[in-house]
Amino acid sequence: MHKELADLLFQDIKITPEELEEEYKPRELKEGAMVTRFGPSPTGFMHVGNLLGAFIDSVMAKQTGGVFFLRLEDTDSKREVDGARELILNALAHFHIDYDEGYGKEGMYGPYVQRERKEIYQAYAKRLVEEGKAYPCFMTEEEIAEIREGQELRKEAIGIYGHYAVDRDLSLDEVKEHLKNGDSYVIRMKSPGEKDKQITLHDLIKGDIVLPENIIDEVILKKDGIPTYHFAHVVDDHLMRTTVVVRGDEWVPSFPKHLQLNQLLGFKPCKYAHHAPLTKKEDGKIRKLSKRKDPEFSVQYYKEAGIPVDAVRLYLATLINTNFEEWYLQNKDKGLDDFTFSFKKMPTGGTLFDMEKLNNIARTYFSRLTSKEVYQEALPFYQEYDKDFYQILLDEKDKILGFLEIEREGRRPRKDIATLKDIKKESMYMTKLFYQDLKESYKDVMEEEVDYEILEKYISIYSDQDTQDEWYQKIQKLAEENSYAPSVKMYKEDETLYKGHVGTICEMIRHVLTGRKQTPNLYYLLKILGIEEFQKRLKAYQDLYR
Ligand code: GLU
Repeated sequence: MHKELADLLFQDIKITPEELEEEYKPRELKEGAMVTRFGPSPTGFMHVGNLLGAFIDSVMAKQTGGVFFLRLEDTDSKREVDGARELILNALAHFHIDYDEGYGKEGMYGPYVQRERKEIYQAYAKRLVEEGKAYPCFMTEEEIAEIREGQELRKEAIGIYGHYAVDRDLSLDEVKEHLKNGDSYVIRMKSPGEKDKQITLHDLIKGDIVLPENIIDEVILKKDGIPTYHFAHVVDDHLMRTTVVVRGDEWVPSFPKHLQLNQLLGFKPCKYAHHAPLTKKEDGKIRKLSKRKDPEFSVQYYKEAGIPVDAVRLYLATLINTNFEEWYLQNKDKGLDDFTFSFKKMPTGGTLFDMEKLNNIARTYFSRLTSKEVYQEALPFYQEYDKDFYQILLDEKDKILGFLEIEREGRRPRKDIATLKDIKKESMYMTKLFYQDLKESYKDVMEEEVDYEILEKYISIYSDQDTQDEWYQKIQKLAEENSYAPSVKMYKEDETLYKGHVGTICEMIRHVLTGRKQTPNLYYLLKILGIEEFQKRLKAYQDLYR
């Protein structure tokens, strides 16, 4: 009877599980190699949590000599929006998450789009029906809603199971009758689960989790013959020879269904690694990152914000392995590829996503680049988002490069750049932008005192041939000759004797030259901009504030 039922329901399905097994051969990989996959749904939104999952997939496959593939999970056509597929591909490409095979690429285990695999799922569903492990269910939505209401009232498990599963044992004739009437139906698995029994998920990240065994006759094929996520991913991960399923921990409660489906289908289940959701601290409370409230939740945010891809990747690495950051800070010449990640070091609870922390990583990242590399990274960003500054980058390349070069070497390189936007912000006084709005350029220092006389004198003694020591000694001498202390120490001994000290003069030069209270090494700034430029700015400053 089951065989007849299966043939009746799946008349067009000729391909068999055996043939599919033959077609999707086990992969020939070395011991321990992981096969991972990223299975996004094309909903038009990709968040950093998705990206984090894909990042785990890629590093784990890569470091074990395995395979990482991309599968488009589009079984829910209602949620698919235009452009969603491109968004996924662009995000992966942008963040350098390279996959070995899958959607948009070649591969021996395709098609990698679930809707194109309809026949495959049906072949397995047919087999389950044939073996009496699945059945057509003709219940209407109203009937199901009514059952649900009652279950909610009585605080029972929600779903179709036990005596609620009225179509479980329909006779062949009853099924035929329904079909004759044109009644629509879904295919449900026949759950062998027992109430009050438990199963254990040996999660690679979270360790053992005890869960109630599944008792629900879950839908495996919807009315249109398209599978549900539960069924599709179990069939796909089996045929595509996935070894580790990395996914968000919102799927943990569904695991018992997935385990049972594997058992019904006679598959060896993959290993599972459920990662925690990303959270944020707000007003002292921790909450999940939200699409509505947090722009940084969207993967598209980072490009526009000028946060370099490699900095985001480094940050993802700190999020997935708690020991990564310390290692990275200690190993100046090493990068992501030199670190060995492990599931055991992944956080088990909510993972705090902290933009400040990301910025700090980005500062360290920038501090390890050469000035040329920083400049090169800035070019395409400004070309896309700020054409005017892009032109300035080209026109005033030497000054900007010179500026970026300052204090880059040494034990404590400067860390004033966290985003590509900061390059404009920090270097704008090196360029003609400084004159665009002088009031604005000088706003931070307008309260500061300026001794015009001594600055005029300074101009006359400056030489761009001086070494840094000579340069400083000249200012000390200038101080001495003009009632300023040549050292801070002397000044502190009796402040009443002096107008200020050598540092005060340097500060004045800095304020007039840059409009900032803090800058990289002044000696170099003067060297790059030149004393004529200083003279010009001193005049501009005087005109503005006299
Ligand atoms: N398509 C599922 C989602 O977007 C993927 C879950 C999985 O990786 O198995 O949530």
